Amino acid sequence: MQKIGIIGAGQLGQMLGHAGQPLGIQCVFLDPSDNPPAASAGPVLQYPFDSAEGLARLAGLTDVITYEFENVPVRAIETLSKQTTVHPPAKALEKAQDRLAEKELFRALGIPLPAFRTVDSVSDLNSAIKVLGLPLVLKTRRLGYDGKGQRIVRDDAGIEAAFDELGGDELIAEQWVPFDREVSAIGARNVRGDTVFYPLTENVHENGILSVSRAPVDDDELSAVGNDLLARLFAELDYVGVLALELFVTGDRLLANEFAPRVHNSGHWTIEGANTSQFENHLRAILDMSLGDTGMRGSAGMLNLIGTLPADPRPFQQTPCHLHGYGKRARPGRKLGHVTVVTKDANDRETVLGRLSKCLNN
Ligand code: AMP
Repeated sequence: MQKIGIIGAGQLGQMLGHAGQPLGIQCVFLDPSDNPPAASAGPVLQYPFDSAEGLARLAGLTDVITYEFENVPVRAIETLSKQTTVHPPAKALEKAQDRLAEKELFRALGIPLPAFRTVDSVSDLNSAIKVLGLPLVLKTRRLGYDGKGQRIVRDDAGIEAAFDELGGDELIAEQWVPFDREVSAIGARNVRGDTVFYPLTENVHENGILSVSRAPVDDDELSAVGNDLLARLFAELDYVGVLALELFVTGDRLLANEFAPRVHNSGHWTIEGANTSQFENHLRAILDMSLGDTGMRGSAGMLNLIGTLPADPRPFQQTPCHLHGYGKRARPGRKLGHVTVVTKDANDRETVLGRLSKCLNN
């Protein structure tokens, strides 16, 4: 049996583990937490993410190693790469961990992005405002996720407060993008360089956290541009695995926000909505298998379950949907599960999503 080592045992690891089972692939996880979500999908070695002993054990037990979140220490991946095969490459992780390096990469590849300035002091922030205008978004270069580590500066009165709240870290000031919508381009590349692309997905965020995804985005030109941008990242990084690129849509333009060198929340709909899920394709890619068909089985929608799970599953059982719970303890703002709907067309999808939203709000 092929064995894949996964650093991190959250819900993404859990869904990777489940995708491996019908392929005869066993996933083994490394994670410091007690009883993490992926424990339901395979054995967990309980070590800190940078434990040399834990990583060496994981390498000894498996054929290939991957990771399910982007804050794995880059040095751990570099060290591991000398002992075993690791995908995606450390370079992708390094760029994704630092918004400045990520933006410089976008720029070098001709990937359009919002204007930005680096900020290390209030005076830098004032200079940035002169160029970028207000409002703008101030973001920490590192460790931001789900809207954490960022503040909107709306007026002069908010400048010092925003800097103080995020200060101490290296920051980026980003032009405010009055986007029409947000989308993500998701694809996979295997070791021999074959690529596949999922239909473009539209995403709605609430308080910086993904709330709803819908696919496909009904715009072939936009999808082709999104896939071309993803292909540039694939080639430059000699990338192996699933990669997600988050983009703002303004008119007919796409502006890159950030990329994730891993399976992505906005691709959860692919479990039921695509012929091959992003999780299966990630495993296929890193084992250099042929990649699976990314065609859709209908119109797909996904609602994240954040903070609480429905106490009563019956309304969901009476709705054509797939309820996924990750087995995590409830906490405000925490992603605890998601619901996917797959319907014959977008109108039906909206009807079912509307019914589900009602179930969630009752
Ligand atoms: P991020 O952590 O950078 O993905 O940001 C989380 C969310 O905040 C994004 O998905 C957007 O909804 C919003 N956001 C981030 N940056 C900007 C920006 N420059 N302009 C407008 N909205 C933004």
